[in-house]
Amino acid sequence: MFKSAASVERLANRLARLPGIGRKSAARLAFHILKMTKEEAVELADLIKDVKEKVGYCSVCYNISESDPCTVCSDPSRRRDIICVVEETSDAAAIDKVDEFNGRYHILHGRLSPLDGIGPDDLKIRELLSRIDDDVKEIIIATNPNVEGEATAVYISKLIKPLGVRVSRIARGLPVGSDLEFADSVTLARALEGRQDF
Ligand SMILES: [Zn+2]
Repeated sequence: MFKSAASVERLANRLARLPGIGRKSAARLAFHILKMTKEEAVELADLIKDVKEKVGYCSVCYNISESDPCTVCSDPSRRRDIICVVEETSDAAAIDKVDEFNGRYHILHGRLSPLDGIGPDDLKIRELLSRIDDDVKEIIIATNPNVEGEATAVYISKLIKPLGVRVSRIARGLPVGSDLEFADSVTLARALEGRQDF
């Protein structure tokens, strides 16, 4: 790359560190941004800034939110007695499209993955346990239907059971190895309905 385009190169190098973006795509994006009008480029930069400045985590469920508690946790029409535990915010969003579910969520921000060095302390598991009070009657574990998701579900269920709260796992209607996030509402509704106790 020409020396005069050092800032384009810097941008491309930074974009290449985003997940799913290879070096070629990063270079293409950097040149695309270069061709934008100044207004468009500034708008994009502002959106990135806004996300960092305005969005944080709900201190109850760890959902991403512009308010604390988030709109789900502060909604009085939602059931307090049932919490659905998911790996990521996107999973909660998918489940929330299912009309049957009107409880609250708990976002773990990942799953147990010893090979990647992700242990219980890296997830919001302690925070989940501290949420369980007399109002909570059931915890539905809706981690993804793959090896790590299952291991995470078993681990959490062992911690919750002694607390005398019902712990269930969404049914296996979901294709193994699939991502909850991409499941359709009908499949998710069935998986929730057919949940089984640990
Ligand atoms: Zn919340």
